[in-house]
Amino acid sequence: MKPRIGVYICHCGANIAPTVDVESVREFAEGLDSVVVARDYKFMCSEPGQNMIKEDAENLQLDRIVVAACSPQMHEATFRRVCEEAGINRYLFQQANIREHCSWVTHDSEQATKKAKALVTAAARRVARQESLEVREVGVTPAALIVGGGIAGIQAALDIAEAGYKVYLVEREPSIGGHMIQLDKTFPTLDCSACILTPKMAQAGSHPNIELMTYSEVVEASGYVGNFQVKIRKKPRYVDESKCTGCGICQEKCPWTADNEFDVGLGKRKAIYTPFAQAVPNVPVIDTEHCVYFQKGTCRACQKFCEAKAIDFEQSEELVEVEVGAIVLTTGYETFDPSIIYQYGYKRLDNVITALEFERLCNAAGPTGGRIALNGSAEPERVAIIHCVGSRDRNYHEYCSKVCCMYSMKFAHLVREKTGAKVHEFYTDLRSSGKGYEEFYNRIQNEGIIFVRSRPPEVLSENGNLVVQCEDTLADCQRRVPVDMVILSTALQPRSDAGEVARLFGISRSADGFFLEKHPKLAPVATMTDGVFVAGCAQGPKDIPDTVAQASAAAAAVLSMISKGKIEVEAATSVVDEELCSGCKTCASLCPYNAISFLADKEVAQINDVLCKGCGVCVAACPAGAITGRHFTDKQILAEIEGLLADVKPPLVAV
Ligand SMILES: Cc1cc2nc3c(=O)[nH]c(=O)nc-3n(C[C@H](O)[C@H](O)[C@H](O)COP(=O)(O)OP(=O)(O)OC[C@H]3O[C@@H](n4cnc5c(N)ncnc54)[C@H](O)[C@@H]3O)c2cc1C
Repeated sequence: MKPRIGVYICHCGANIAPTVDVESVREFAEGLDSVVVARDYKFMCSEPGQNMIKEDAENLQLDRIVVAACSPQMHEATFRRVCEEAGINRYLFQQANIREHCSWVTHDSEQATKKAKALVTAAARRVARQESLEVREVGVTPAALIVGGGIAGIQAALDIAEAGYKVYLVEREPSIGGHMIQLDKTFPTLDCSACILTPKMAQAGSHPNIELMTYSEVVEASGYVGNFQVKIRKKPRYVDESKCTGCGICQEKCPWTADNEFDVGLGKRKAIYTPFAQAVPNVPVIDTEHCVYFQKGTCRACQKFCEAKAIDFEQSEELVEVEVGAIVLTTGYETFDPSIIYQYGYKRLDNVITALEFERLCNAAGPTGGRIALNGSAEPERVAIIHCVGSRDRNYHEYCSKVCCMYSMKFAHLVREKTGAKVHEFYTDLRSSGKGYEEFYNRIQNEGIIFVRSRPPEVLSENGNLVVQCEDTLADCQRRVPVDMVILSTALQPRSDAGEVARLFGISRSADGFFLEKHPKLAPVATMTDGVFVAGCAQGPKDIPDTVAQASAAAAAVLSMISKGKIEVEAATSVVDEELCSGCKTCASLCPYNAISFLADKEVAQINDVLCKGCGVCVAACPAGAITGRHFTDKQILAEIEGLLADVKPPLVAV
């Protein structure tokens, strides 16, 4: 039976119609094969526009629809829904983009109209060959996995748990808290970081819907949206969580020490330790590398003094398997190691420190009890803060780390407040966009901080003094500023294992190495893998307010998915013709969604319909031409191309 196509051309207000002669495109469309009706309208996506399509479908028995309008990214979902409401399968719809591809790219009305006609022809020829596809639904496991227990992970976990769903919160360190718990005060309000974070940590630790898995890492993730299976490795703490009372006597009695990671190596901790006083859970771990019992078989002081009998040297690694409907990756960031910028002297010159080291020095619970001085030396009288160390620098990271201007000004304030020292800020540009941020900048300026617009090339050591050498680009002069301490405002960068984590969960990373979101504006916490979301600094550098907002957004996305109980999956997937398949496995090795398996008995490839996203990689790669992409068959694509080349004679391909 001949198809009955309706073609609808949108003016898109003043976006399409002033450049594309829509009336002429409509008249042209009327003459195309199988087109029963062609209309134009001001806003086809508006309610009257949608109703026009539905009424025509009913009155004229249309069975296929073409809309020539904006990008399908924008309104394909809208018009597919309209088709379904009109009783037409959503895959019998085709959208021609005559805005981004015609009116927005030229002022030449004649050329734009000619191209619009070609695109409409292509869409009409293609839609005539499209087939109905069955939209399927799969059930959703009503639970979520959060990977990373910084503020992003904690917030997302609490939001989901509060809505009544089970959450597994996996954190690789012995306690949740992430970087935020290491910070002293937070800009711009200068509230104590631990004071605002610890109530949330405690809530997450005791929430009946949250299963906290600290000192643990995900080792395997399989499945698909709504139904993921995840294997988690729980490292042995050598302390029985169910018995430990958190009294701390084991740490007191342990005679062995190691560098304290939580204080970024500035202080010491015991071989059995909790990373900080408010740790959640408040259960220590034994660092086997520094524990003499594990190294030499002697000591056991912790075990002797533990009244709760919680020390268990026999504990071993555990593998736990969980099933979840959705996953949120909140693995955060690392800070840039400035020792690779030799001329700044980090690790070479005394009193050149990083931003995170400053946070710990400044903190009352830190290695110096909040005294801003290293190794028992006097407090500094002159401090330099150098911005953009590793950021906005093509040698390291081209991007702006977004929080360094603000935390540098916070440092200037804290130095002034605690020591009264003279502070120079060496900045490239000052970026203070955020609620209350510009006001904070103004406040700092009034505190007598000296701002020098410069990216200093070098920090020198002269007669026991540090000297910052620079060109002041506003005053247009060279400066040599002697100081007692230099703080390097180091970049935020992707975690070194971000690539492995991305592979584990089948997501992509952007050029800067952070996890890639599905769409920077329209889907900022989704990824290209359905059911896997990202939030916080794992997606890119950001401050705490933005991190929390993103985490709640990811939680809302998870909830909207798992609360429905079932979910639609893509119908435009690939299919293998077993007769043609040679069993070479090329497709399986290339599939980015791990959707292809090999049937050993038949020696052919098989595609999992639920995992397949219809990307077409396997279709293009199959040397035997055994794989077809539903909705993207050769017949459909060639018909579309022929439509575009309709005035090229003779036809390139017969269709
Ligand atoms: C020096 C400095 C000062 C700052 N000061 C401020 C400030 O004053 N105000 C402000 O708004 N912002 C500030 N920030 C920014 C702030 O630190 C971040 O916005 C915030 O910490 C981001 O939280 P997050 O949860 O995304 O990441 P993170 O804090 O990095 O947390 C990620 C968590 O995931 C865990 N993890 C990582 N990989 C895995 C894995 N594979 N499996 C399991 N767990 C994993 C980590 O151990 C960590 O606990 C500052 C940043 C720096 C560097």
